[in-house]
Amino acid sequence: MEGAETLLLFSTRKGAGKMIFTCEEHIDIAIDEYVDETEQAPDIAPMDNNEKQCSFCEKKAVYVVGN
Ligand SMILES: [Zn+2]
Repeated sequence: MEGAETLLLFSTRKGAGKMIFTCEEHIDIAIDEYVDETEQAPDIAPMDNNEKQCSFCEKKAVYVVGN
């Protein structure tokens, strides 16, 4: 569990539409966050969009975790 600092990053409402962009390194954290907030298993899709940044570092996102 990451605690309050992480909750600030993901203060969006629970449930449908939540998406977390993540690099390969932080995919596990992204999944944990998603499950923790929504209590559902996320879909994980690779993405080749160069515009999105990882939610946990400054690398480009390569996966989107969401539904
Ligand atoms: Zn990252």
